[in-house]
Amino acid sequence: MTTATVKAVPAAVEVHDVHKWYGTHRVLDGVDLSVRPGEVTVILGPSGSGKSTLLRVVNHLEKPEIGHVSINGELIGVRRHGDRLKELSERAILAQRSRIGFVFQNFNLFPHLTVLENVAAAPAATGQLDRTAARQLARELLDRVGLADKAAAYPRQLSGGQQQRVAIARALALRPGVILFDEPTSALDPELVGEVLAVIKDLAKSGTTLVIVTHEIGFAREIADRVVFIDGGRIVEQGPPAEVLDRPRHERTRDFLSKVL
Ligand code: ADP
Ligand code: MG
Repeated sequence: MTTATVKAVPAAVEVHDVHKWYGTHRVLDGVDLSVRPGEVTVILGPSGSGKSTLLRVVNHLEKPEIGHVSINGELIGVRRHGDRLKELSERAILAQRSRIGFVFQNFNLFPHLTVLENVAAAPAATGQLDRTAARQLARELLDRVGLADKAAAYPRQLSGGQQQRVAIARALALRPGVILFDEPTSALDPELVGEVLAVIKDLAKSGTTLVIVTHEIGFAREIADRVVFIDGGRIVEQGPPAEVLDRPRHERTRDFLSKVL
């Protein structure tokens, strides 16, 4: 009889001892975070606590002073070389970044492209798909976010909620291993928040790995596998929503929740 060897599945996102500072201002102060494939992680924290910076480090839009990030077991930004960390080439960084979707607070759609072109642009530009296949995929993704009838419209002709749903379809177009959301509903009028959260909820149910910065506590309770509370560039506590949101152990978490609930 042989012993079955269980191959460890690498974390979808692994943040290891990340420090980021601007001048003397420590924005991230030793952050460790591990996100399993298919897991939905919600990051909460006061304004200025480092949430956006953490997402930007994960997507290699910012480089940490100390520490590293890996995506699916592959180091991003820096690579181990003996016991040193070696810079990755710009090309390798771009290749890795294409495996991470990023949805911004302000949608960041290309204003001069139609909705369909916004979604089809990346897989066509990276050569992942030819132009016809990219447009076909874009149609399927627009259908998935409920905007099949807006394919020919320009972003300015859409509501904020619709623009954000296009941005989500665009993030999905590269078939990323993980999608990062930075306050995806905070620029929206209240009546448009629900339609965007519904699309994100649908992604969560389908097993997409998601890391979401949001102040929507009810939403976090509903979809998060894990809630992470950050303050002052450090993770103060993390755990299932029933623990962090309903029985927070730290005074700072309680204080924050009392203000946003
Ligand atoms: P959050 O998203 O939690 O509100 P951020 O990650 O945006 O916080 O910012 C954390 C802190 O880092 C803030 O004090 C902010 O002013 C500072 N910061 C962010 N980006 C820069 C930058 N490029 N240069 C200097 N300071 C920055
Ligand atoms: Mg932010």
